[in-house]
Amino acid sequence: QADTAMYYAKEQGRKNYQFFTPELNSRAQERLSLENNLRKGLEREEFVLNYQPQVDFSTGRIVGMEALIRWNSAERGIVSPDVFIPIAEETGLIVPIGEWVLRNACAQNVAWQKQGHQPWRIAVNISARQFQEANFVELLSRVLNETEMDPQWLEIEITESIAMKKGESAVNLLNRIKELGVRISIDDFGTGFSSLNYLQRLPVDTLKIDQSFVRDISEDDNGEEVITTIILLARSLHLRVIAEGVETKIQYHFLKEKQCDEMQGYFFSKPLLAEDIERKFLSGF
Ligand code: C2E
Ligand code: MG
Ligand code: MG
Ligand code: MG
Repeated sequence: QADTAMYYAKEQGRKNYQFFTPELNSRAQERLSLENNLRKGLEREEFVLNYQPQVDFSTGRIVGMEALIRWNSAERGIVSPDVFIPIAEETGLIVPIGEWVLRNACAQNVAWQKQGHQPWRIAVNISARQFQEANFVELLSRVLNETEMDPQWLEIEITESIAMKKGESAVNLLNRIKELGVRISIDDFGTGFSSLNYLQRLPVDTLKIDQSFVRDISEDDNGEEVITTIILLARSLHLRVIAEGVETKIQYHFLKEKQCDEMQGYFFSKPLLAEDIERKFLSGF
């Protein structure tokens, strides 16, 4: 068996002469190749943003758009963010990619506002690695300046685990972001282990109910209980609450009745290219 491993490693060339099992080695190779493709993808501008509307339940109006990255790789075709974002995180490539997302999303929102429609927020996903970068707040501030975006229209989405991490320093960081005038949303809420005591000290604006709970609505599960609890929690902490992954009329009516503030999901619209957002939601202005 050791022979096989050695043979395989040699085959990969001198530089890769390592005592890996064939399986481990090929996984490492795959990861390396994906990393190279990602790097080139950034240079060749293979990334594009989709936007998914966030709708206010009481008015029925679009109040925000979540920017969601898409990668059309020359080597691989369409690659899902669930596949490449974790690799981009591990390799640190998420930092330049995330900066690209932030800049493009802000520039797009400013362009839309200039077309004269009712302004809406732009929500941008921020990964743990980006959030931990020493100059993250400076980056936010610089991009807002360069794109001439009013900070009140930017919302960053971070996960529970990011917000709950490292006690005091996360609170300080979030406070500095709030001081810029940027809004903060906790994504996939309910899937992590939030300390409620800690949550009430965090300067966040929005709880985003994870789509796994929305999916459970009407399936005779306790998903409905969880949603009701999160909505009540948000009320008592004076936070806005948005449900993601809303797909059906039943889910829509349930959430509306429970007085959820906003919704996002295929029921209203799939994530779309900017030009399709304009065609569908901006014509007539
Ligand atoms: P997320 O931020 O929780 O985004 C929600 C995901 O649910 C998106 O998947 C969206 O397309 C999908 N979705 C929206 N409505 C529905 C629905 O009604 N039904 C179902 N089944 N799905 C719905 P997507 O675009 O594939 O993104 C997956 C994840 O990748 C995101 O989860 C986010 O964590 C990450 N991601 C996407 N874009 C970025 C980015 O620019 N930066 C970073 N750091 N992460 C990103
Ligand atoms: Mg999100
Ligand atoms: Mg989410
Ligand atoms: Mg998610």
